[in-house]
Amino acid sequence: MFDYKAAFETAVEQVKSEGRYRVFADLKRVRGQFPKAIRRRADGSEQDVVVWCSNDYLGMGQHPVVLEAMQAEIDEVGAGAGGTRNISGTTRSAVDLEAELASWHQKEAALLFTSGYVANEATLTTLQRILPGLIVFSDSLNHASMIAGIRNGGCERHIYAHNDLEHLEALLQAAPVDAPKLIAFESVYSMDGDIADLAGTISLAKKYGAMTYLDEVHAVGLYGPTGAGVAERDGLLDGIDIVECTLGKAIGVMGGYIAADAVIVDAVRSWASGFIFTTSLPPALTAGALASVRHLKTHPELRDAHQERAATLKARFAAAGIPVMDSVSHIVPVFVGDPVHTKMISDMLLEDHGVYVQPINYPTVPKGTERLRFTPSPNHTDAMMDDLVRAMDALWTHCNVARLPAVA
Ligand code: PMP
Repeated sequence: MFDYKAAFETAVEQVKSEGRYRVFADLKRVRGQFPKAIRRRADGSEQDVVVWCSNDYLGMGQHPVVLEAMQAEIDEVGAGAGGTRNISGTTRSAVDLEAELASWHQKEAALLFTSGYVANEATLTTLQRILPGLIVFSDSLNHASMIAGIRNGGCERHIYAHNDLEHLEALLQAAPVDAPKLIAFESVYSMDGDIADLAGTISLAKKYGAMTYLDEVHAVGLYGPTGAGVAERDGLLDGIDIVECTLGKAIGVMGGYIAADAVIVDAVRSWASGFIFTTSLPPALTAGALASVRHLKTHPELRDAHQERAATLKARFAAAGIPVMDSVSHIVPVFVGDPVHTKMISDMLLEDHGVYVQPINYPTVPKGTERLRFTPSPNHTDAMMDDLVRAMDALWTHCNVARLPAVA
C-alpha cells in the first residue's frame, strides 16, 4: 500500500536539502513594547529580542487607539461574526470599514476579504469568470497570491519583465485590440523595495484599453498625504481600476480588501467563492482596523518618522560597508548572496545579539540573491540602531561576507 509517511518525509527532506527549511521564531509580543518581544527557545528558555522584520510597519498593532477599539467591540458585540457575509455575518463595523476604505482610495466601494492573500486570489480568479477571454499581463515579481489567482482562472496570461514598460507594451501590442485585458502589478515590491512606475503603466493601460489592478499591500498607510498608498502620493488614484490592500501590515490588524467602482465590487461580491463561502472577519478586528485607518489618515507624522528611520538605517549600513540594496522605499534589504551565510548571520544576530531578522531565501527571492530584509518602524530607537549596526559589522567580518566595494 502507499507509504504516506515516506511521501511527507521526502517532501520535507527536499526543502531541507535546498537549504530553505523554515524554522519559526516563537515570539510573544508585549503590549506597548513594540518592537521589543520575548522569544521562547526550543528548550523553553526565554530571550528579549528586538524585532527588525515585522510588517507592522508603524506599530499600529500595539497602538492604544486600535487596542481600545478592539476591546470596546468585544465588550459590546462579542467575538465572532457568526456567519458568512450573506448569511448573518455582515457586521456593523465591517460595513463602516468598507465605507471608510472606499473613501480613502476615492473609490465608490470596497470589499473585505479574510486576508490580502484571499483578496488577490479570489478577485483575480473571479475577474476571469466575469470577463470571458480576459488576457492578464502580470509583473514577473508579483506576489504568490496574485500568481495563484491568475493561474487558477486559467486565462491567457503574459508575464512582463519586472517594471519593464517596454516589454509590457510589446505584449499589449501583440494582443487582440478588442480583447478584455488586465495589467496586474504592485506599487512597493516587498523584497527589493523598489516602486513601480504607476503613471507609465496607467498610460499604457489607457492606450491599449486595459484595466489596472494594483496591489498596494506594502504601501497602504505609508505613502500619500492621507496614507492611501503610492497611487495617492502620485495623484493617480483615478487611473487605478482595482486597488488591493491588506489590513495586516501598516494597519496592524488582519484582513484584506479591494476598492473599485461600485459595479466592479458588486460583481466580485456576487461571484467570488473566496468571498461568499467563508465566515466574515470578527467584529473586533474590523473595528480595530477602522480605528487604525482613521488614525493613519490624520497622522502624516507617523509616515514621516517611518521614512526617516528607513533612510537613517540605509545610511548607517552603507557607512559601515554593509551592502544595503538599492531600495527607494521603507524596505531595507541587505545583500548576502547565498542561503548558508544568510541563515548563519540571521541565527547569530538572534542568539548572540537579540536581533531578530528572518533570512529571505529562494523561492521568495531568486537563488544567489539571498538577503536579510530590515523593516524599521518609527518605534525603533537610535540605541536599537546602534546595537544593530555594531552587530552586523562584527558578523560581516566574522562570516567574511562581501562588503560594499567603496568601504571594503
Ligand atoms: N500581496 C503582497 C505583495 C504581499 O506581500 C502579501 C503578504 N506578504 C499579500 C499580498 C498578502 O497579504 P496578507 O498577509 O494580508 O494575506
